[in-house]
Amino acid sequence: MKKIIVIGGGAAGLMAGVRAAQLGASVRIIEKMKMVGLKMGITGKGRCNVTNAAPIEDFIKQTPGNGKFLYSAYQQWTNEDVIQMLHSWNVPTKVERGGRVFPESDKALDVRNAFIDTYRKLGGTLHLEESVTDLIVQDGHIQGVVTNKGKYTCDAAIIATGGMSYPLTGSSGDGYELAKTVGHSIVELRPSLIPLETKESWVKDIMGLSLKNVEVSIIAKNKVQTKQFGEMLFAHFGVTGPIVLSASHTVTKLLKKKVESIEISINLKPALTREVLDKRVQRDFSEAQNKQLVNVLKGLLPTKLIPVICQLAKIEGTKAIHDITKEERLRLVDTMQDMRLSVHRPRPIAEAIVTAGGISVKEVDPKTMQSKLVQGLYMAGEVLDIDAFTGGYNLQAAFSTAYVAATHAAEGDIA
Ligand SMILES: Cc1cc2nc3c(=O)[nH]c(=O)nc-3n(C[C@H](O)[C@H](O)[C@H](O)COP(=O)(O)OP(=O)(O)OC[C@H]3O[C@@H](n4cnc5c(N)ncnc54)[C@H](O)[C@@H]3O)c2cc1C
Repeated sequence: MKKIIVIGGGAAGLMAGVRAAQLGASVRIIEKMKMVGLKMGITGKGRCNVTNAAPIEDFIKQTPGNGKFLYSAYQQWTNEDVIQMLHSWNVPTKVERGGRVFPESDKALDVRNAFIDTYRKLGGTLHLEESVTDLIVQDGHIQGVVTNKGKYTCDAAIIATGGMSYPLTGSSGDGYELAKTVGHSIVELRPSLIPLETKESWVKDIMGLSLKNVEVSIIAKNKVQTKQFGEMLFAHFGVTGPIVLSASHTVTKLLKKKVESIEISINLKPALTREVLDKRVQRDFSEAQNKQLVNVLKGLLPTKLIPVICQLAKIEGTKAIHDITKEERLRLVDTMQDMRLSVHRPRPIAEAIVTAGGISVKEVDPKTMQSKLVQGLYMAGEVLDIDAFTGGYNLQAAFSTAYVAATHAAEGDIA
């Protein structure tokens, strides 16, 4: 019987534990927290966007951080496989906007508990509140692991310790250190899917304001670097929400390349051309010649945003419509379609939804997830230098890499 140790009981660790146990291996998941799957429990705002219904080929496009490395893993364990697995565990799923797949119950804990129950039923061993501190390697083969409580021998070990974000869930970067001790390179860590701090302080005045159907562009080096359409939110420090998180991947990449002066342009009316929006404004103005600008704009903009737009367009909000010049009106139109903010910096990595960077994928076999440096050592999940957009793609990446690692760890030759 193959002895397999899974380091970390998050999304990847639980998937790896279940798969290895299904293949008849003797499995130990060693988890440093009191509970496994703490991060899984808070995914999708507690609802767990477990995967996406898009064709599996699209997952690579949705994985800007080394998506191609995942080609084989995505083929070996697809989104359909994950959905079928959950259904077989009596966790029905539903598909929402953008193909996002959630448990029908809207409870992330149902997903986590199904993993734990299955793992236990398959005879897997769970060590809680035990932290792996070292890997034992001899002649290029994994022999076991050291923890704060003892030593365990194994035929294969899977590092599934997650990234660097939300450290209260247990993912505080231990896996990078473990991999380093056996010679692996760590690609510089940076937050991905992270809210952005802005230089402008007026964002504080509208914190909590959420905008739907808007477009955010990231502008640097006089070029639009990325465009995202959907929902965003103002916060006391800057901007956040789904499209800002997606755009942040580009921002942190630019910052890594030392690009200065990165701007965010918000188009509040992306469905309209400048001309059509101007006509709409002219129509509203012609029907309310004696009213103040702030009152007329209520038909076009959320109330909270009106003083900001007036200020950015440099027009007194109390001005009567009949006093507004053509230049002022066009300035207003342009501001609505290009509300500018300057990026100060991303929020700290601890607040990131995922960590970009990690164990270099060049040193890991994409077909098996085995280390190219140490036989019998495998990697899975966010500890690898992979990161995807929101939409269930990160959990799928964790599940696919874990499934592959466990399959090959359990079926490979004993070292
Ligand atoms: C707020 C939030 C919401 C998210 N929502 C979604 C979503 O809806 N859909 C989606 O696809 N992705 C989502 N993600 C991303 C997703 O949760 C992660 O990509 C995924 O959990 C990564 O899985 P993992 O197993 O690699 O790491 P983790 O789930 O972080 O698990 C790592 C585990 O290893 C343990 N560990 C660490 N070091 C040691 C050690 N030395 N010894 C023993 N154990 C150790 C940790 O305690 C932890 O339990 C979200 C992330 C956050 C922060």
